[in-house]
Amino acid sequence: MKTRSIEKVTPPGSPHFVGDGFRVHNFIPGTSTMKRMDPFIMMDYNSKFNFPPTDTPKGVGVHPHRGFETVTIAYKGRVEHGDSAGGGGIIGEGDVQWMTAASGVLHKEFHETEWSKKGGEFQMVQLWVNLPAKDKMSPPKYQAIPNHEMLNIALPNNAGEIEVIAGAYEGKKGPASTFSPINMYNVKLNKGGKTQLSFPVHYTTALVMIEGDAIINESTDALQDHFVMFGNDGESFAIEAKSDAIILVLSGEPLNEPIAAQGPFVMNTREELMEAFQDFNTGKFGYLEA
Ligand code: MN
Repeated sequence: MKTRSIEKVTPPGSPHFVGDGFRVHNFIPGTSTMKRMDPFIMMDYNSKFNFPPTDTPKGVGVHPHRGFETVTIAYKGRVEHGDSAGGGGIIGEGDVQWMTAASGVLHKEFHETEWSKKGGEFQMVQLWVNLPAKDKMSPPKYQAIPNHEMLNIALPNNAGEIEVIAGAYEGKKGPASTFSPINMYNVKLNKGGKTQLSFPVHYTTALVMIEGDAIINESTDALQDHFVMFGNDGESFAIEAKSDAIILVLSGEPLNEPIAAQGPFVMNTREELMEAFQDFNTGKFGYLEA
């Protein structure tokens, strides 16, 4: 199998706040374009940040989405979520929330009330996964994926383990259902642990160093909180952990469809985008209490 080269290593840029509860570095489209990252159209990464205790939970109030899925991966802290399609719940450390906005939802995302009272370290990834044109107007749905439902595969030589959120690792499938082929893993390596991953050459492939440092393809440093984008010139890449590490790995088949994106809507044409704004403004996204 041919080695997949590293296209780019991106350090975390200056953070900005989403609402008052998410202090994020934007990696997608910041690192590249939506088209290059297809089907991953947005990624905000809240690197570890300490939120002081408060009785008023911080977060983002009611807002709409249409045309894609939002995936929230919690590493530290707890988030409470609710949407106008009746989905919602609490995602805690190690859990994932996979919300299919599709034809449209209103939702809100806040630090969980009890967690907010104590405050503490918060670390999270929010990713937007684009939907194929044929599925953009399908009904919204919600998948709560608690950590214990993820597939855990121990690596040989006590290297660590691979937690499969979506897609498959060596033929074994993770719990999330997706509309297009997507692999999403948390690769947890012990210091000195090594592994090799491979995905079809045309898949858009990247990783985020959630915890610790690693060496990729025996040559390139990937430091904590950095984003690594791979080329499409080979299938496989090697990771060696320089310290105990958690690495979020993403690989997905590009949809190769036109992208018309503005604010919280991602469609295929400008007309569909206008329709989304109109539907939102005329209350067609339903109702969600603030
Ligand atoms: Mn949102």
